[in-house]
Amino acid sequence: MTSLVINISISRHPVTTVSACVLGGRELTGSPEDAILWIMNDCLFCRIARGEIPCKKIYEDEELLAFHDIAPQAPVHFLVIPKRHIDNVMELEAADASLAGRILFKAQELAVSLGCAEKGARFVVNCKSDGGQSVNHLHLHALGGRQLSWPPG
Ligand code: 5GP
Ligand code: ZN
Repeated sequence: MTSLVINISISRHPVTTVSACVLGGRELTGSPEDAILWIMNDCLFCRIARGEIPCKKIYEDEELLAFHDIAPQAPVHFLVIPKRHIDNVMELEAADASLAGRILFKAQELAVSLGCAEKGARFVVNCKSDGGQSVNHLHLHALGGRQLSWPPG
């Protein structure tokens, strides 16, 4: 079967309908909505949010999940994610302002609870390739417990 290879960026911007495509080496037929469902089923952090992949959970509510990074770069290193799939900061919209604020504020609360109040911490959101994002599900890093250098590499 002939298939069209196309890169679909899962965003809220209009996506052209495709009849067949290959995402991540797997063939997908159907609508852009199917593509979004495929990403949500396959996305690492969506799977962690659904409990399909274990994590060292720190906090959870209806909207947010916080868990320790699997490869900590500091004595304190955790991630705060929205449970809803959002690719990255560039995909945030005005309607997400409250959610985005909650992510930052929850990171602050948890960093305080993990002993970072006095000396502080770094709160980082990498975005797309230039920003060094490796997992395409919005997440905020909180790093603390040691002196961090600047500027980043
Ligand atoms: P990014 O480079 O996208 O800003 O950060 C992704 C982070 O996710 C990295 O710090 C990486 O160590 C972490 N990470 C990747 N896979 C997993 C995983 O399966 N579990 C946890 N807890 N963290 C992960
Ligand atoms: Zn996701």
